[in-house]
Amino acid sequence: MNNNEILLLKLGEVVLKGLNRKVFEDRLLNNVRRRLRHCGSFQVYVRQSTIYVEPQDASCDLESAYAACRQVFGIAAVARAVPCEKTVEAITATAKAYLAGSFAAARSFKVESKRADKTFALNSIQLSQAVGGELAEAFPGVTVDVHTPDLTVYVEIREKYAYVHAPAVPGAGGLPVGMGGTAVSLLSGGIDSPVSSWMMARRGVQLEMVHFVSPPYTSQQALDKVLDLAKLLTAYCGRMIVHVIPFTEIQEEIRKNCPEEYFTLIMRRFMMRLAGAVAKKAGAGALVTGESLGQVASQTMMALNVTEDVTTLPVLRPLIGMDKVEIIRISREIGTYDTSILPYEDCCTVFTPRHPCTRPKLEDVREAEARLNVDALVEKAMAGEHWVRVKP
Ligand code: ATP
Ligand code: MG
Repeated sequence: MNNNEILLLKLGEVVLKGLNRKVFEDRLLNNVRRRLRHCGSFQVYVRQSTIYVEPQDASCDLESAYAACRQVFGIAAVARAVPCEKTVEAITATAKAYLAGSFAAARSFKVESKRADKTFALNSIQLSQAVGGELAEAFPGVTVDVHTPDLTVYVEIREKYAYVHAPAVPGAGGLPVGMGGTAVSLLSGGIDSPVSSWMMARRGVQLEMVHFVSPPYTSQQALDKVLDLAKLLTAYCGRMIVHVIPFTEIQEEIRKNCPEEYFTLIMRRFMMRLAGAVAKKAGAGALVTGESLGQVASQTMMALNVTEDVTTLPVLRPLIGMDKVEIIRISREIGTYDTSILPYEDCCTVFTPRHPCTRPKLEDVREAEARLNVDALVEKAMAGEHWVRVKP
């Protein structure tokens, strides 16, 4: 640990955005600042495709700042670095002290330099040679290997200081949340929908969640679990609203009046209508679901056609071409898996038909649904909506 240590955040795709770049950078800076609020007081600014995160006093928690920055979308890589004077001597001394542990563990190393300040006297090759030579002398057990070194020492000559760091680790990638508009994501307690939400947020989409509850068939624990999942997602997405919508009456009416084989499909059509109503209020431009082609009966191509028939909004399904094992891998990586597998009933698993129709015809489903007063049911469910604000 070095008291001067700071974080360098390398911008991801943001740099490709031409004239919009300033807007992207500003959004990203805001997102980073907001996420660092709980880690102490940091100065956060951008220079040459890099965001600098500098602790302002000793109370700053750099460890948690580092972890938080790795979860901010729009950042390709994160490095911990130490600034020093822009001289070969200072750079060498800093590398010796700061990276002593890494040198002890390595058998070979190289120095890679970048010169953002073109007025610096040495070019990057000369600088790497100079610093590398000094370090080779200081650590005689470690040899220089420019092709496959165990350790790469990075030196960056920037505006005010030189920075020394070990390799950067990957950031969350994607685009800053807020740049991609707003969407309403249908969040169940399952494995899939937290992952689909995360994937759309990663493309810069600000999310509002909607969750359907069917008391007394679904429990308070089931709802708490969904709120926990939303909370886990806030580490990436920032604060969000979860709209909780009562779904019991709709399900009971469907069961009473519609053929069993269409039960799930009609239920899913209601979910789309209600999510669409939330989207309208929220000014959202799309819906997001965790559907994956062929995973269950309601996710065949014909079933998806029946489901999205009731909304004019685009239905984004980022998992559509993914296998369950891939989805599970992401869910573990983003930290939602252990919560997702807690065993509480979702409204989808209440009243599941024994023989769901996998090749439904749109006309048949519309006809089966015509026995219900759709508008009244939607209106009543929306009247029972309440929302919860979930914070990191
Ligand atoms: P998940 O693992 O996300 O629950 P799933 O494989 O269980 O998905 P379904 O139960 O058919 O599949 O649900 C498909 C999608 O519908 C979910 O990914 C989610 O987007 C949405 N959904 C299902 N149940 C609910 C619910 N109770 N509230 C909100 N959205 C839901
Ligand atoms: Mg489910």
